Amino acid sequence: MGLDEAIRRGLAPDGGLYLPTEVPRLPSGYFHGAGDLASVAARWLEPFAAGSRLAGAVGGLAAEALAIPAPLVAVADRTWALELWHGPTAAFKDVGARFLAEALGFLRAHADPPVTVLVATSGDTGGAVAAAFHRRPGFRVGILFPKGLVSPTQERQLTCWDDNVVSCAVRGTFDDCQRLAKAAFQDQSLAERFRFTSANSINIGRLLPQAAYYAAASLMVWGQCREPLSFVIPSGNLGNAFGAVLARAAGLPIGDIVLAHNRNRPVVDFLETGVWNPRPSVPTIASAMDVGDPSNFERFRSWYPAPGALARTIWADSVDDEAIRARIRGDWPALGRVWCPNTATAAEVLARLRTRGGAGGHWAIVATAHPAKFPEVVEPLVGHSIERPASLAGLFGRPARSVEIDPTIAALAAAL
Ligand SMILES: *Cc1c(COP(=O)(O)O)cnc(C)c1O
Repeated sequence: MGLDEAIRRGLAPDGGLYLPTEVPRLPSGYFHGAGDLASVAARWLEPFAAGSRLAGAVGGLAAEALAIPAPLVAVADRTWALELWHGPTAAFKDVGARFLAEALGFLRAHADPPVTVLVATSGDTGGAVAAAFHRRPGFRVGILFPKGLVSPTQERQLTCWDDNVVSCAVRGTFDDCQRLAKAAFQDQSLAERFRFTSANSINIGRLLPQAAYYAAASLMVWGQCREPLSFVIPSGNLGNAFGAVLARAAGLPIGDIVLAHNRNRPVVDFLETGVWNPRPSVPTIASAMDVGDPSNFERFRSWYPAPGALARTIWADSVDDEAIRARIRGDWPALGRVWCPNTATAAEVLARLRTRGGAGGHWAIVATAHPAKFPEVVEPLVGHSIERPASLAGLFGRPARSVEIDPTIAALAAAL
């Protein structure tokens, strides 16, 4: 099956997730002359699209969707921040969501009746997907978010839409939202009626472009000093981390890949014990990462099935709320940086690694969101208010609209 079909379907008919059958080994010099996210992504995506309806088109789609800065900013000696929050909703999810919208728009031009993009979100996905599909002809969007479990500011970003976007406040957890989305896809009659497609990170169309910023950042450091760049990635559903693993597998100069989790730590435990024990998510202040049963884990497992193989590929650590708070409080005066709570988990994990002498060379803290998305947490810690990027300020000016539902298929159908 080609990339076009995998993107169009989102989820395989048997409920499984799509993966590339092989990862291209890109020759050195492959990205020569490409530097920004859009141009690196255009070249990165081309081999994956080969043989599909997207072949020859992905370059243009990436240029259209990914004209977003993703700067690698020096923070301290051999320490960088990879800022992934310069898109319209100020989180890294804009990258995948915008490419997906562009690709689906290309593949489903003039869809009639419209396709419904269904997305379960713990915060940032819903806003990014809504922004990417808002008023796009041929598409409707259904956002499922756990009522009361996202911050008031997050909730505003999920409910500030109109026209073709329906925001559902689900009485349950993020895992309930995710289960409901999965059940809706597998419900034949509902899926036919609404022509569902997924924009969660189960859709390979969101994951693939996320490798491009790892490629671009590592190439920049390699160009400057011929050294690989290692990454600490704030992780929940593991979609972002999957991009890094993919880029490294394709031969990009990436060193270690470390996942920073909050107290939701099934991945950390798996790497330590070899036992996969997903559990209900627990709420933390790094709420975008509150995932107890990460859906992309099956992708990692399928690529690294042997016992211990995954633990030789990535490393992970877990950080509690107190450590997140302390990191935000301390790094503001020490580095002049205000982290969002999710990013702070990565800053904390890197600091611990450095203290233990386990992190030589160049490291990037992956800054997954702008701190202005989490003012309730961040402002009291740094003692001043955080200015919103202009795009966020625009969203916050819009009126809020949502429908409250139980996590059942019937309630979802009624809301849509
Ligand atoms: C979604 C999100 C994460 C977690 O990313 P995954 O791909 O789900 O692992 C981390 N930080 C922020 C700000 C997010 O929005």
